[in-house]
Amino acid sequence: MSTETKLERPQSLTTTAKTHIREAIVAGEFSFGSQLSESVLANRLGVSKTPVREALLQLKHEGLVDVQPQSGTFVFQPTDDQVREICRFREVIETAALRFAVLRDSAALVRRLEETLTADDEVGAAGGSAAENAATHPQNHHDAAFHGAILDCSGNPYLQASYRLISDKINALRSRLDKDDTKTDLCHQTHSTIVALIRGGDIAEASKELSIHIRSTEESYIRASQCARGDAASHIVRQRRAGASTDRRAP
Ligand SMILES: [Zn+2]
Repeated sequence: MSTETKLERPQSLTTTAKTHIREAIVAGEFSFGSQLSESVLANRLGVSKTPVREALLQLKHEGLVDVQPQSGTFVFQPTDDQVREICRFREVIETAALRFAVLRDSAALVRRLEETLTADDEVGAAGGSAAENAATHPQNHHDAAFHGAILDCSGNPYLQASYRLISDKINALRSRLDKDDTKTDLCHQTHSTIVALIRGGDIAEASKELSIHIRSTEESYIRASQCARGDAASHIVRQRRAGASTDRRAP
């Protein structure tokens, strides 16, 4: 084994650990505010604590975990105000990206967005109620694909980098939406309206619809984060009553 290969290995384990922890946070497997134990995560991933520690540090810089000295490492827990700030930031970035994408290649943007709508239709055709579909999150996936396509088509790396500051947090909030949220169908309908407006050349109205759409999700996301916070708080209380050790408190 070459020295070069040896040097690459720890980085690869850190990346793997980071991907795994990020996905578990985004998917809701690790609740908002829940404690993350290096040793539990290391056992679960079959690695030493070093890459886990490095992965947690990197996720801290991305705002997905919160390191509290003397207390431990916790999954981020957005306040109501932070959720609002995320949504307002998102509105600014996405509407700017939409304008750039139209100027760059409007037909390509429409094609990309239509692909995500077709995927939505296929989910519906595959069977299951809206609530069942929401339970397995395919609609959430397609919602992320629709909004991500606008950023991709903008062709502006600075806007794309700005969006990445919040995209995992948006996905984390999205995956915690109420399973019976009837806005799933409405979301598909709004996406179709936005695509039709772009196709028809009414970009001002398309941008307005996109703004309204993002604002309409704000209260749903706040409710989702409040429920998730409640889950985490009751989880910690249960663990403390059970006299769990620090490691056993971790997910
Ligand atoms: Zn949407």
